[in-house]
Amino acid sequence: MQKLIIKKGRERALINRHPWIFSGAVQTLPNAELGEILSVYSHDNRLIGYGFYAPGTQIVCRVFEYTDKEIDVLTQEYWTDKFRKAYEIRKRFIVSEQTNAYRLINAEGDFFPGLIADVYADTVVIQLLIKGTENLLDFIIEALKVIGFEKVYLKAKEVAGRLENVLHKKSWVSEKTGAAQIEIIENGVKFWVDIESGQKTGFFLDQRDARQLIKTYSKGAKVCNTFSYSGGFSLYALDAGAELVHSVDSSKIAVDLIEKNLELNNISPERHQSYAEDVFKFLKQTENKYDLIVLDPPAFAKTAKAVPNATRGYKELNLIAFRKINPGGIVFTFSCSQKITRDLFRKIVFGAAADAKRNIRILHQTTQPPDHPVNIYHPENEYLKGLVLYVE
Ligand code: SAH
Repeated sequence: MQKLIIKKGRERALINRHPWIFSGAVQTLPNAELGEILSVYSHDNRLIGYGFYAPGTQIVCRVFEYTDKEIDVLTQEYWTDKFRKAYEIRKRFIVSEQTNAYRLINAEGDFFPGLIADVYADTVVIQLLIKGTENLLDFIIEALKVIGFEKVYLKAKEVAGRLENVLHKKSWVSEKTGAAQIEIIENGVKFWVDIESGQKTGFFLDQRDARQLIKTYSKGAKVCNTFSYSGGFSLYALDAGAELVHSVDSSKIAVDLIEKNLELNNISPERHQSYAEDVFKFLKQTENKYDLIVLDPPAFAKTAKAVPNATRGYKELNLIAFRKINPGGIVFTFSCSQKITRDLFRKIVFGAAADAKRNIRILHQTTQPPDHPVNIYHPENEYLKGLVLYVE
């Protein structure tokens, strides 16, 4: 195995177990291939760990194991063990008769940079984000089999293809194959998940806890669920006794799935209306007032440069919602932009509240659920923040 040697005085981040090695911190770059596994050493020849190599990029190595003892990381057992440890947390705290969909591997959050693995009932959808994990595909499929999953679907991300020349395709990679639409249950609510043509791996698993929370506030309410996707928050609100729910999403595919999900949960169509429209346009035009509004937009800021524009977008969105909410109403507002910090998001919502000139109180602050763990040494993995507000 080839060595990557860290410059003298640049070990700090590594001693703090940060999983990324930046090119500026490297003393000697090995002559290795993209995606190869390297051992990482300090300038005075102490072993620090093992990682995936990406020459020519800013993050030249992603460390998946910190250790000062040599271990054989090129074995099936090593990778199976990573899956076992991740599965253990999910089995203990998430899986139940009421929930069979969850994130099994959350990249760096599970000490597995470059891999996302989401479970939908008996199927696992994986995303390989770097060449290093693509090289491990056979180990990954076998590890999943060992812990009990035989159907594995690969849904590569286009961005990964561009960055590290990872295969960009959608296909079954296990011997056994399954259906493109899978029925799941989450906190007792059923959904169809379309792993082939849905967004992300098919479902926004990261909002499970926030969806559960909406039940507390839904009884008898008139609800507007914006950026509704396949109706996550809508179905929970209806399940908890909302009088009427409006779901708004610009994607026709998403809106069609909501109709199927209503049927799956035996919900009378009179209690729900879908709008395949732009949320900003819908909220500006509607004459309706609501008791509960959900704002769960896609990431407005994908890069640091986009933050100022995104800030304006979030502010406008929250301001319109504050104008459409009944006195004593509840607003669930979220941002999944990693570049918008929790503090900044709260300031933005503060600005919208001040412009709306209404008394607003924070009832809850939400974040990603425990199947999206954040490695404490890698805060970059934290992206989802939410506020549940009481509007007088
Ligand atoms: N709350 C959802 C997830 C929302 S993801 C859940 O719990 O499952 C964001 C959604 O916003 C996507 O479905 C996307 O199609 C939609 N979207 C993006 N821009 C939009 C816009 N301007 N108007 C309406 N919908 C939009």
